[in-house]
Amino acid sequence: MNESSYWLLRCENKLLASVDDAGGNIFPRGLASDFGNPQDALLVGEWQGLPCYAADIDHLPENTSAELMSLRSLFNVAGAEATSLIVRATMLLDWRKNHRYCGKCGTPTTIRTGESSMVCPSCGLVAYPRISPVVMVLVSRGDELLLARSPRFKPGVFSALAGFVEAGETLEQCAKREVREEVGIEITNLRYFGSQPWPFPDSLMVAFFADYAGGTITPDPAEIEAAGWYSRNALPALPEPVTLARVLIDAACLSENDVGQ
Ligand SMILES: [Zn+2]
Repeated sequence: MNESSYWLLRCENKLLASVDDAGGNIFPRGLASDFGNPQDALLVGEWQGLPCYAADIDHLPENTSAELMSLRSLFNVAGAEATSLIVRATMLLDWRKNHRYCGKCGTPTTIRTGESSMVCPSCGLVAYPRISPVVMVLVSRGDELLLARSPRFKPGVFSALAGFVEAGETLEQCAKREVREEVGIEITNLRYFGSQPWPFPDSLMVAFFADYAGGTITPDPAEIEAAGWYSRNALPALPEPVTLARVLIDAACLSENDVGQ
């Protein structure tokens, strides 16, 4: 940390960053002392050949040209490699903040060097970063896609169905249960598409295509305020391009192979 490094500095749930037209140099670079020697900085990876540290700070460093940006606005401009570092830093900072005491005996935990874990010096319990899998399913029926909106979405935006994996459940079981619970539809021919870590707060999104197998759309009013079948040529407003949901829906529109049976 006594050498020049890149810094992901979080203040008020925003990151200090500067984005130029080329998307480079988005993280401030310098010595720890340039940024007030942030306490408990975490090494989260490398950026442009230099170590990259993350830390929570209470006030902005002096003489910086960088500004505080929300994660979502950064994701739209940062590029895949920088986004990956931002997600990792955010998840690790949150995990450390939320696991300061042993969940078993209440003793303050200590950070283990060499791996991402915290250990209790009293009872030895080890805590790893929490990662919560979320299954996302895009259901096809011929040319149509099943899209729904949660009351939490931006106005007018529709997306694929998604829900948290429950304890003891496989991804496949979760996919069928979520679709059944949220819209009353049965699915078949589940195909894995891809995954994306998503730090709101600690999700791993796991996306699938599926085909319609029966039932009538009956939204669960607790989770879904509207749902319907949409032709690939006449889709409603969709999530932002940086989201896995959008990548999944775009892929379904491009690939004839994924038109339902
Ligand atoms: Zn303990």
